Amino acid sequence: MRVKFARVSKSNSLTLINKVMETIPNSQTGADLSSSKINLLGLGEQGLIDFFESIGERKFRAKQVLKWMHVRGVTEFSEMTDLSKSLREQLSQVAEVRLPEVVSRSDSEDGTIKWLIRTAGGSCVESVYIPENGRGTLCVSSQIGCVLDCSFCATGKQGFNRDLDASEIIAQVWIAVQALAPGRAGNYRAVTNVVLMGMGEPLLNFDNVVTAVNLMMHDCAYGYSKRRVTLSTAGVVPALDKLGDVTDVSLAISLHAPNDELRDQLVPLNRKYPIAVLLDSARRYLEKMPDQRRKITVEYTLMDQINDREEHARELVELLSATPCKINLIPFNPFPGSDYRRVSNNAMYRFRDILHEAGYTATVRTTRGDDIAAACGQLAGEVNDRTRRSQRYRDKQADKLQTVKIISG
Ligand code: SF4
Repeated sequence: MRVKFARVSKSNSLTLINKVMETIPNSQTGADLSSSKINLLGLGEQGLIDFFESIGERKFRAKQVLKWMHVRGVTEFSEMTDLSKSLREQLSQVAEVRLPEVVSRSDSEDGTIKWLIRTAGGSCVESVYIPENGRGTLCVSSQIGCVLDCSFCATGKQGFNRDLDASEIIAQVWIAVQALAPGRAGNYRAVTNVVLMGMGEPLLNFDNVVTAVNLMMHDCAYGYSKRRVTLSTAGVVPALDKLGDVTDVSLAISLHAPNDELRDQLVPLNRKYPIAVLLDSARRYLEKMPDQRRKITVEYTLMDQINDREEHARELVELLSATPCKINLIPFNPFPGSDYRRVSNNAMYRFRDILHEAGYTATVRTTRGDDIAAACGQLAGEVNDRTRRSQRYRDKQADKLQTVKIISG
């Protein structure tokens, strides 16, 4: 599904979002045009059933091949030994299990790992593994760049190239699991949680993201519970309204402000879908879940003197009073040329304490991996920008630098 915005605002950012989303064809899914073979990596169970039926095979082959690819990490049909020899040969004629190229791996001093992954067409995305007390979270990207251009986010400054296809999204999990798990004994799992909080807005790449998250939770693939897979959205409300019909992943919303005036500046999408509309949609998502005890996670990036004051915390307390949620406070992580400063520890803990006093579960996300530019909001990849936003941003930075030079003589 492609979500198209109706043009309702004169804002440059929104006009750009609308334009890009309307002009980039849905078929642009990262398929490697040099290969005529079907890449089975990004097919969910039903997609594989359809594929096997199309070549005259029984549907149980789908589960067999899912296990080979995702549980055992096998990419060669010749090694899939519970398939007949003739089927293996047939598969190698028409299909493949193709992974994107890992360009580099960066290891932070604190154990965080970042992979730079080249996709079809040459652009690169990043995924990040964050180990902490008994769990390991993998943050994956869903698009090459992002059209939404939140003012505090490095990804937004890179512009946008295209959606990742389902194989490119699930490949990020495959790469991390295979890199971190082989040779370990027993049930050791390095990657215990997956969050779609890397580059891109997941709900603007709806079909591919849904296929990938359902693979993450499939018993014959990665088998994560719905509590361990989290999709984070800036608030694409029409897509969020449909999400609960096709999956039951955990939901996070990137709020970052307690009122529309401030959020309009930080998250331009808010001018299209204001906070009240977004929170209504998030509650509808929860209502569709069989387990009524579930909560959404509210992400709130704290920026010095922007959204970190006590009155902001109190406003947030009121705003969220009717929404079952927990709040994740994220200290802003500066990136080259960013306009904001990191929140002070005093302001951050005072903010958290106000939320606690009001009865909310509020946690502060520790900054991890900033020595390798892998911290939250710092992911940039290498985007062949189709929006020219990255050039405008670089021009703006150059102007700023020039002004500083002139002033300082
Ligand atoms: S914060 Fe998320 S939605 Fe906003 S620009 Fe960055 S990647 Fe896109």
